[in-house]
Amino acid sequence: MKTFPMFLTMTGRRVVIVGGGEQAAQKCRLMLKTEAQIDVLADQLNDELHSLARTGRINWRRGRIGPTAFVDAALVFVATGCPGLNACLHMLAKDAGAIVNVVDQPDLCDAITPSIIDRDPVVVAIGTEGTAPVLARQIKTRLEEMLEPRLGDLAALAGRLRGLAARRLGPRQRRDLWSWVFDGPMRTQHAKQGDAPVATAIKTVIASGRIPEKGPAPVALVGAGPGSSDLITLRGVQRLQEADIIFYDRLVDPGILELARRDAERVYVGKAPGCHSWPQDRINSLTVSAALRGQRVVRLKCGDPGVFARGAEEAEALVEAGLSYEIVPGVTAASGAAAAIGGFLTERGETDTLVLTTGRKAQAKERPDWVRHLSARSNVAVYMGMQTAPQIVDVLGHAGLLNEVRVTVVSNAQRADQRVLECAATELVGQITAHGLVSPAILFLRRTDVAQATVAQNAPALHAVAG
Ligand code: SAH
Repeated sequence: MKTFPMFLTMTGRRVVIVGGGEQAAQKCRLMLKTEAQIDVLADQLNDELHSLARTGRINWRRGRIGPTAFVDAALVFVATGCPGLNACLHMLAKDAGAIVNVVDQPDLCDAITPSIIDRDPVVVAIGTEGTAPVLARQIKTRLEEMLEPRLGDLAALAGRLRGLAARRLGPRQRRDLWSWVFDGPMRTQHAKQGDAPVATAIKTVIASGRIPEKGPAPVALVGAGPGSSDLITLRGVQRLQEADIIFYDRLVDPGILELARRDAERVYVGKAPGCHSWPQDRINSLTVSAALRGQRVVRLKCGDPGVFARGAEEAEALVEAGLSYEIVPGVTAASGAAAAIGGFLTERGETDTLVLTTGRKAQAKERPDWVRHLSARSNVAVYMGMQTAPQIVDVLGHAGLLNEVRVTVVSNAQRADQRVLECAATELVGQITAHGLVSPAILFLRRTDVAQATVAQNAPALHAVAG
């Protein structure tokens, strides 16, 4: 190690920043996270620094900079933007005994500022000694995803309760207490609800002297989104990073599994349509037994786990086994498909009813519920409607609506192979075949008089418009 990481106490210490432009402002932003006293030396300040000076957050000093400028400074940042001037100022600051950082001149730096993840008081600093700033940013992004925004508050709360715990509990109990807090249900609860309920729970446990068994963690039913891996939520990524084992579906994008820990077990439990190689109760018993073994389980489903995903059945199996579950929502395919074609699922004054339904229920003799909702102001999104497209057309025919409906098919929405087709319902089956559209796809059904409203004029991804 050429540099050694250390956390400097900054409370009440003096930091000098020389320069009044963007580089100086960047250092200033960093130092403002601390309790240091900040002196900025410059003849002119940019707007940001100016307003900080006006509100008293920094002290602004103008005029000649002599050797006394750096006396008592714990840290000096030199950021004038002029390499020659920076070098002179560096000498002056060194003579005053300060630790000096000269922006963009590593050979003149005693200390370099790391990439920081700030969950104050929990702070992570990442440094690569200047070798690989891009790698540092990648690591930072990963850690930002892993550490929930409220983690610092939880650490601060624990800090406030340490004295109480030390008075009431022995060392072993204290270890169990904090492990229960940081690696158990309290952490999840705090991420959702904040300090108050968690503080009460911890105080109750300290008072009773009985630390609860951690028990199995809730099984997370996580929505992976419709396609590309950047459409999963940050909470979903957090659960993936915590997971020991991940059971995933057929339509889950492989890029999403990359977001999990490298050593997490990945188990494919996908069902090809019409093929029952993975019966539901087998999936249920696998997730249940993994959770009972003490593994942290993620059940990863495409789209949203609450939309045509048999989430309720899996949750019921967990509860029956005495386990708990958590639902992490995802972008459902209808949202993904509408967004992909520049359209909107609802529109004020145009579409006030949105129906999410499944083509599996389309039987020509029956009249599925969605037909009732197919009005001038509704948008009916049909999931799993490709194989049953002929039955959907039959249903529309029986309802006397065949000539009034237009269909937008979005196949493989939000994926590289996305295809879009818009046509009259009468031509649906022929057009799907003619354009070679495949599952998975969402079919948006609209009455003719409002059919154009879902798709913006300049929809970027319209590959085929027929009829
Ligand atoms: N839980 C999922 C739905 C699973 S059912 C969700 O909320 O989206 C499977 C159906 O979802 C597919 O038959 C198809 O209709 C739809 N689907 C899933 N991914 C899709 C995608 N990328 N593009 C279009 N439709 C998709």
